[in-house]
Amino acid sequence: MQDMKFSRFNAWTYTENHELILYNSMTGALATFEKPQSNEILIALKRNEVLSIPTELISIFLEDGYIVKDGMDELKKINDLVNKRQALTDEYFFSILMNLDCNFKCFYCFESLTGEYLDDIVSQKIISMIDKVSKSAKKISVDWYGGEPLLSFDK
Ligand code: SF4
Repeated sequence: MQDMKFSRFNAWTYTENHELILYNSMTGALATFEKPQSNEILIALKRNEVLSIPTELISIFLEDGYIVKDGMDELKKINDLVNKRQALTDEYFFSILMNLDCNFKCFYCFESLTGEYLDDIVSQKIISMIDKVSKSAKKISVDWYGGEPLLSFDK
């Protein structure tokens, strides 16, 4: 147990009922703990003391990724996963937000329609990026997104 550390991807919150909700964004693990375990875990997390975790939870915490082996480089693991994923594909999918404007004003709209539009500098960067990947891509898809992307039809 001495060669363990908390994952850098842990996030938690503590409710009014003294429940601890613990999430790990690397593994997607999500768990809720009640008193008295929640207090013990919270103290351990705040003090960064893996040894203060209730013993019966250690194997579960390891399995769910809340704690990891001391020598593990989680950032490298993420990086390796990203590189592996990128190497697997020769297809690209772009979702391009053209504006935050709309002429419909639907009552159920959840968008923040601030009236902003994609500017020329960012547009050129997007064009350059797509031009670059198009040299090796077998397929490129574009999702025109907004607001209402057709308000940016000229661009
Ligand atoms: S962005 Fe979509 S949901 Fe919002 S007002 Fe326009 S059409 Fe309606």
